[in-house]
Amino acid sequence: MDFRFSEEDEAFRHDFRRWLEANLPRDWRDDGELHDPETKEEFERRRAWHRKLYDAGWMCIHWPKEYGGRGASLIQQFIYHQELERVKAPPTVNFQGIARVGPTLMQWGTSEQKRRYLPKIPPAEEIWCQGLSEPNHGSDLAAVETRAVDEGDHFVVNGCKVWTSNAHHADFTTLLCRTDPSLPKHKGLSYLLVDMRSPGITVRPLVQITGERAFNQVFFEDVRVPKTNLVGEKNQGWLVAMTNMMFERTIHGGRTDMMVEVRQVVELAKKVNWNGRPAWEDEYVRQQIARFACEAEGLKYTSLRQLTRQLKGLPPGPEGSIMKLATSDLNLRLQMFAMQLLGPYSQFEYRAPGAIDHGKWSHRMLAARRATIAAGTNEIQHNIIGERVLGLPKG
Ligand SMILES: Cc1cc2nc3c(=O)[nH]c(=O)nc-3n(C[C@H](O)[C@H](O)[C@H](O)COP(=O)(O)OP(=O)(O)OC[C@H]3O[C@@H](n4cnc5c(N)ncnc54)[C@H](O)[C@@H]3O)c2cc1C
Repeated sequence: MDFRFSEEDEAFRHDFRRWLEANLPRDWRDDGELHDPETKEEFERRRAWHRKLYDAGWMCIHWPKEYGGRGASLIQQFIYHQELERVKAPPTVNFQGIARVGPTLMQWGTSEQKRRYLPKIPPAEEIWCQGLSEPNHGSDLAAVETRAVDEGDHFVVNGCKVWTSNAHHADFTTLLCRTDPSLPKHKGLSYLLVDMRSPGITVRPLVQITGERAFNQVFFEDVRVPKTNLVGEKNQGWLVAMTNMMFERTIHGGRTDMMVEVRQVVELAKKVNWNGRPAWEDEYVRQQIARFACEAEGLKYTSLRQLTRQLKGLPPGPEGSIMKLATSDLNLRLQMFAMQLLGPYSQFEYRAPGAIDHGKWSHRMLAARRATIAAGTNEIQHNIIGERVLGLPKG
């Protein structure tokens, strides 16, 4: 097997790496991905960074040119994500729009919906969030209860969504809601596009264990949504939502190289002491790190296998679930190990005076739980792998 990239693709990598070197603000290097922008000022700073990437042709590179993308090849997308991960650049402010809503609309939207909504997503002129999960329905998404009643040229929506990332910044949300409660649960659902400024919407922030407020609970009280905002057929929203979920899982399973994190733990082990000498010289520490490195290398090749399937035009295989499960689990164990290395210093909060590496490790450890839950929990991924890949009986 030859894992080298072509000269053309290496030139693409070189260009993007050089651009990032010249443009990524110094204070975002290494931990730019860490915290969610809380204040309006921070959010606008991130939006300006997003815009800078967009103006230079480095945003939405996988989107077709007609909608503001670059039409990049699959290999270039892979390289692009590797480079962003390498420098730990902050995520885009419109990640839901770019990675999930936009691609779902390209597949299911009417020409008018595509024309109206898609071009404003890449430049972050309109920010999107997605309203799928509800307080009683996350893993069992098909059971959502938010109601949309058909009233001729519009629907009237009542209900509540939860864990809605970015809702406090969003201009629009997607909404999976029930339009016919008499039908079996997968069949009576519809997928709507809702203006977040519509009367009757209340956004209440939820504080996470990291102290951030990136999620929200969103309440809908007699919210009018024009029929022109229905995506796909009425009562066939489950099919649209599944397209949305497929893009979501591909993205969450999309970590390409966990060695970036392993190398950072190596650097930490060189900095801190363990039994009176640098931790990096301790056998136990080295063995643990070697184990993490072996797992990370294995995952890198699994993600290359996923890429190969895509290049051959095959449908997504089990690698998506495996990558989502294994990368989030490895990341959690890596962060817990960093806590062991830090000993009492692990108590320092992010950006606390005197904290090693600005306290980024404790923040990362707390944040590492997110990826084990988002986009289908790891328990659900175990079920998928057990039932659909290994053919085990349903639990
Ligand atoms: C960082 C993050 C961002 C998110 N952003 C959004 C967003 O923007 N929009 C949105 O709609 N949602 C969002 N979510 C919600 C996410 O999709 C749900 O949290 C997830 O699907 C799980 O649903 P739940 O929280 O209701 O847990 P539940 O479904 O109530 O599950 C509770 C526990 O039971 C386990 N469990 C449930 N069913 C089974 C089963 N059949 N077999 C074994 N174990 C099971 C689960 O694994 C979990 O541990 C986000 C979540 C996170 C963490």
